[in-house]
Amino acid sequence: MALSTPSAFAEFDAFTAALDGRRPALFLDYDGTLAAIAPRPELAVMPDGARAVVRRLAALCPVAFVSGRDLDDLTRMVAVDGLVYAGSHGFDLRGPGLRRQVGVEYLGDLDTAEGLLRDRLGGFTGVLVERKRFAIAVHTRQAAPGDKPAVADAVRTLVGEQPRLRLTGGKELYELRPDLPWDKGRAVLALLETLGLQGADTLPVYLGDDETDEDAFRALAEHGPSGGIGIRVMEEPAPTAATWSLRDPDEAVAFLGRLADWLAAA
Ligand SMILES: [Mg+2]
Repeated sequence: MALSTPSAFAEFDAFTAALDGRRPALFLDYDGTLAAIAPRPELAVMPDGARAVVRRLAALCPVAFVSGRDLDDLTRMVAVDGLVYAGSHGFDLRGPGLRRQVGVEYLGDLDTAEGLLRDRLGGFTGVLVERKRFAIAVHTRQAAPGDKPAVADAVRTLVGEQPRLRLTGGKELYELRPDLPWDKGRAVLALLETLGLQGADTLPVYLGDDETDEDAFRALAEHGPSGGIGIRVMEEPAPTAATWSLRDPDEAVAFLGRLADWLAAA
């Protein structure tokens, strides 16, 4: 785990040197990476400037989004045609000529859990139960502080009753997912294979900002001889398996713009 990671923006020349002549295949998280975190998920809008940069990059190298959002929601928020999108933390994948869903046999468990959560949490003002196809998120950012312990208890009790699901998160966001060995890291490795990006001429580069992205940083770090590069978007230094960092979504967009310029000139 690196505690201090160089800035891919401030040290851009060193970053491009690390590509070592290979074309990047970009994997991008959405929330907190290209769109600033907002009180409600629908308010976390990606700036038009970021969208323009993503469009430019998509003409220069492979680009995929990997997010905890529901696939349709993610696709709508990014709104760039022709990209690969992986929603529900990589359980739900779609792109040109590509469709894959992991954990379809868990949809009934998720339906049951969703109904129970809506019943049990309906009395708490400001608690948002959000169903994604392959996950259920419980957002408590808008809940009364005094209610939060009871909400946490209700969520944990329910997860105890649903052994086929597992709980992740835990601060202002709880998430129930199929209890399968699958995450953003496995999804990225599967995409590299499916999209034919395992050759020595390609280097996967993953940008993300939270713990779920660490799975992808680790997967790329362990990904054989060609490897991959992780870039953690973070305001404060934190333990990470990424080898580079960026400060915030604004700097991430600035970095990607520079990368597009550099690829276009190459
Ligand atoms: Mg994020």
